[in-house]
Amino acid sequence: MLDVTIQKRFGGFHLDVAFAAEHELVVLFGPSGSGKSLTLQAIAGTLRPEAGRIIIDGQTVYDSEKHIDLPPQVRRVGYVPQHYALFPHLTTSENIGFGLKGIPRDERNRRVAELVEVFALRGLEHRRPRELSGGQQQRVALARALAVQPRVLLLDEPFAALDVLLRGVLRQELAQVQKRWGITMLLVTHDLADVFTLGQHVVVYDKGRVIQQGTREEVFFHPATLRVAELVGTRNILPAVVAQVEEHTLWLSWQGHRIAAPPRPFARGSPVYLCIRPTQIMIVRPDRLAERKRENLLWCTIVGKQIQTETYTLHLRVDHSGNAYDLELTLPAYVYHRLSLERQERLLVELRRQDLHIIPRDIHTEPGSAEQ
Ligand code: ADP
Ligand code: MG
Repeated sequence: MLDVTIQKRFGGFHLDVAFAAEHELVVLFGPSGSGKSLTLQAIAGTLRPEAGRIIIDGQTVYDSEKHIDLPPQVRRVGYVPQHYALFPHLTTSENIGFGLKGIPRDERNRRVAELVEVFALRGLEHRRPRELSGGQQQRVALARALAVQPRVLLLDEPFAALDVLLRGVLRQELAQVQKRWGITMLLVTHDLADVFTLGQHVVVYDKGRVIQQGTREEVFFHPATLRVAELVGTRNILPAVVAQVEEHTLWLSWQGHRIAAPPRPFARGSPVYLCIRPTQIMIVRPDRLAERKRENLLWCTIVGKQIQTETYTLHLRVDHSGNAYDLELTLPAYVYHRLSLERQERLLVELRRQDLHIIPRDIHTEPGSAEQ
């Protein structure tokens, strides 16, 4: 269990955060400079907050009111800083065993051997960091942090220096480590893919504050504000107005179209954002239109295409719109080809009601956006 409240001023920067986590993988997600690394340092005990409280498994390691501030080495926190910080003159085994000085030699050797095994480092025990690849260094850093049998493992951008393939492998290894030891992990990242693969509980940071926290599904599919929606890659954040309120439907007006959304407590005339992720927009084949009841059908023109390795992103302008484009739709490459989209300019799409998420829109703080 981890319970964190931290306040700290750094020149013009003000860190003021609170979150709690229970034996699980928690992701701190946010843009560069939002205070993620400072938070890890405060939990590890290498940075002293001005006020707040940090509780690990029921033990208070920092409390400004009670004047508690335990030194890092007794906090039982495993900390892997952003660039691993391995000792260059020590071998793999010596690096892993570094925090085990006070432990009998046999026990220390046994623990190091176990971690060498778990992290596939056998045969590399006597190498120094510069003789290891980036992925191997990362594994040594993880093993070293786990050797002290920490109650919580802090990982600062653990995949940042690795190539895409290795990232995938290490993400899985981390998830396994978490299961095997049932340890609370706090992972810092600004990579959405990390959040989606690993984040059971996601804490979204912005400018030193927590702007939303919840399950991955809550944060990705139900962002609370415009800023969170932008940060989690919602992409389609459409300024609309509530046109009509019915018991089972919130009718929105957007680009001259009427859109049926799930009921929400908004009054008629309220400015809102209509949010839908690029992978949620459905392509409808006109010859299959009658197959089932459809709603929120929009005819669009394909005005742009981006080809990623295995996915295609289409930019769509809905009919009667004056925008360069309105919607961004992402689909797997094989679907793109199966639907022969390379030969099409027009597309019929459906915004399924259950995939629509509505957030309030504050017209007073919006930069230059017009009412629609
Ligand atoms: P993140 O890890 O989210 O990218 P950090 O926690 O490293 O961000 O830093 C947050 C902010 O704190 C920075 O934008 C900077 O303004 C400030 N900061 C961090 N470290 C220092 C420092 N050593 N001295 C002064 N300001 C710092
Ligand atoms: Mg950082």
